[in-house]
Amino acid sequence: MTDMPELIAELIEASKKHEQYRDRECINMIASEGIKSHAVCQMINMSHDLATRYAEGENDMAGHVKKRYYQGQKYMSQIEDLACDAVKNLFRTTWADVRLISGTHANTATFKGLSLASKNNKMIVTPLSCGAHISHDYTGLAGSILGITNINHVYDINEFNIDPEKSAYVIRATKPGIVTFGGSLFLFPHPIKELKAACDEVGAYIAYDAAHVLGLIAGGQFQDPLREGADFITSSTHKTFPGPQGGVIMGNADTPAKEKAVRKIQYAVFPLSASSTHLGRLPALGIACLEMKLFGQELAAQIVKNAQTAGQYLYENGVKVVAEHKGLTKSHQLALDVSNFGGGNKIAQDLEDAHIILNKNLMPYDDQNNKDNPSGLRVGFQDITRRGFGESDVKHLCDLMLDIIKGKRTPGEVKTDVLALKKEFSGIKYGFQTVEEALKYVQKN
Ligand SMILES: *Cc1c(COP(=O)(O)O)cnc(C)c1O
Repeated sequence: MTDMPELIAELIEASKKHEQYRDRECINMIASEGIKSHAVCQMINMSHDLATRYAEGENDMAGHVKKRYYQGQKYMSQIEDLACDAVKNLFRTTWADVRLISGTHANTATFKGLSLASKNNKMIVTPLSCGAHISHDYTGLAGSILGITNINHVYDINEFNIDPEKSAYVIRATKPGIVTFGGSLFLFPHPIKELKAACDEVGAYIAYDAAHVLGLIAGGQFQDPLREGADFITSSTHKTFPGPQGGVIMGNADTPAKEKAVRKIQYAVFPLSASSTHLGRLPALGIACLEMKLFGQELAAQIVKNAQTAGQYLYENGVKVVAEHKGLTKSHQLALDVSNFGGGNKIAQDLEDAHIILNKNLMPYDDQNNKDNPSGLRVGFQDITRRGFGESDVKHLCDLMLDIIKGKRTPGEVKTDVLALKKEFSGIKYGFQTVEEALKYVQKN
């Protein structure tokens, strides 16, 4: 066994190396990962006492603190209420819950709460193979932990989307308590509007999982789930939304059915699934809300534009980008089929050897048992966009990726160019540099 001092020396060394590698020497294109501004990071560092505290208890219909069981909450309740209000303000909702520590946690509480409120254990989900998150699935959280029965949306592989007509038929025939939208491989807005009537007819709640696209929604891109008919949004706060790692649930508690749902969801948060709510992230979440209120529209539009520019460029240069007839993407992601170039596993590894980080991905039409070598790659553009990449920079990056994909140069050769490109983008845009700067801004306005 390694002795403790040696072990910790190695641990510290590995942590330092990681920061150097991924933050300073890699171009990060994993579609589920976010990037925080310096002000958000600074706010996290300023909240270290808060990050040690507990605030178990109940909340009210505005999402504010109603009752807490421990002393010492003098400012903590205020902090939670203000972070909650920042979320409600940004997304224009009457209710939010910011106690969730992850997107999976938000789904836990929401799926449990909505199945209690509807007294119905059936939930319609996008098939896992077509981009749903494992937490929606019977093999994951929904089925194996919550005991929810899954029924699949009908998914149209050619359209890379849910088939609204056929799914409406499934909803009417199976009468679920919950219908979900949203996913992890998520190129096009899901048909909420088209399926709202069927959901209303059978009394199903609509839950939209925005984990991937929350930042786009905040910026007025992609789709507007609550205005299109979703009852609740569940999300992570750290993918395209540039906050600290955490989760959130929100909605408008404007009908008796939704009020009932909020009460059941809150019960599913506490006491059912939360003890520590990781309060240290809340002030930083508020700063990220302010940044998205101010810069979100510009940021989200540029993210989508960069994704579309890259898609078009890669397509024109011989890479199969899926959904060509749909305009490739309307989100921060692209899905590439690289089966002609050695498959997702080889290309993802070669790209990493050149310091371009993305993930291999099963495509809906792949053999779903072939996880180790799927035909796809999933590429996200939120990190490079926030670091300042515009369309010409994206094309330059695509040229480097093409060299790898087509085997024109070795990863080692391309790496030199990747490092040089990365050096040009050392700042983080569309956000504040310091908490002080954010404070000055809000005091002026
Ligand atoms: C990432 C993801 C989640 C899980 O979020 P975590 O914060 O990682 O727990 C849930 N739903 C979808 C669609 C996701 O992509």
